[in-house]
Amino acid sequence: MSGSSGTAAVVEATPVDSGPGAGDWAAAESLLRNLSPDARVLLVCHVNPDGDALGSMLGFALGLRRLGVRAMQATFPGPPEVPVPFQGLPGLDLLVPATEAYPDPDLVICFDAASESRLGELVDRLDTAGASLVLDHHASNTRFGGVNLVDPHAAATSVVAEQLLTRLGVGLDAGIAECLYVALTTDTGSFRFEATTPAVHHLAARLLATGIRPGDISRRVFDTRPFGAVRLFGEVLGRARLEPAPAGGRGLVWTWATLDDLARHDQRPYVLEALIDSVRCTAEADVSCVLKQTAPGEWAVSLRSKGAVDVSRVALALGGGGHRFAAGFTGRGTAEEVVDRIRGQLDDAVIPPAAP
Ligand code: AMP
Ligand code: MN
Ligand code: MN
Repeated sequence: MSGSSGTAAVVEATPVDSGPGAGDWAAAESLLRNLSPDARVLLVCHVNPDGDALGSMLGFALGLRRLGVRAMQATFPGPPEVPVPFQGLPGLDLLVPATEAYPDPDLVICFDAASESRLGELVDRLDTAGASLVLDHHASNTRFGGVNLVDPHAAATSVVAEQLLTRLGVGLDAGIAECLYVALTTDTGSFRFEATTPAVHHLAARLLATGIRPGDISRRVFDTRPFGAVRLFGEVLGRARLEPAPAGGRGLVWTWATLDDLARHDQRPYVLEALIDSVRCTAEADVSCVLKQTAPGEWAVSLRSKGAVDVSRVALALGGGGHRFAAGFTGRGTAEEVVDRIRGQLDDAVIPPAAP
């Protein structure tokens, strides 16, 4: 079912940008507390999953296991390939390919997906499941679940997941904590981005107190890549272009990587996820962009801003979504054509100066 829930229906819907209200939390708690002992729970995160998608999903799944949920699967749309940096995550034993996911679970829980389109071929579970629950932190979230816990002020979906686990009386253990820590560090850029509030550091402290090893985790997740990827990065960064004019003169830096680039260096697509972090360092541009070819004439586009431009506006206008300073979409055509469309949106996406 989608768009309704017994408990949520009696409570006024809460506007998305204020975060979940008491009624939303109560509805989510009641869904999980009232599961029958043999209920089948399907956890789904967004296509091409990142650390927050996988970490919040698996951390929450481990928490549900502690609550006594037995029949449980975690999955994501597309090929069932877990990016190497996340292959050490606790809870991966729960993961099944999308093709093997329960066709009609009693409850489906979605993680880190702003809209149904991010669920790919698993979107039908919103209708076939007995109930649906959405955990997310995108301001643009369309509230596509029966119950929606959407907090645009949360640094990661894992923040919402941990709050729900706490309400359910599930304390942290090292397995849950490692998953949630990977999610939190992924989405805060290892505690560097704007959303890194005191509350984020308090949560990190509680996660670390379980005994997890932040050095090992960060090395595995962020600081390890095959030598072929190092050389591939050299090539792709070497062809980056800097354009001062776009975004009302705030500047755009961009580059692209093709399937042929990956093949020549014998690399899997996941290695390209870290590229944007090298490109966005460019001092002379507010906006950075990496186009990663996914098929002939098709690109996964990453956009970042240093703070002058709302790149989620650009991404939304071009069929994608995301956050103000980190967004993406699927681009079609040549790389030059896709970048042309981005240039065309950038002036309108400059954030006006705050009123005095
Ligand atoms: P990425 O550049 O892939 O790290 O993505 C940055 C953010 O943009 C993600 O956290 C998503 O919220 C969003 N995003 C990326 N790609 C898409 C897409 N194709 N559709 C909607 N949102 C996207
Ligand atoms: Mn994500
Ligand atoms: Mn996220």
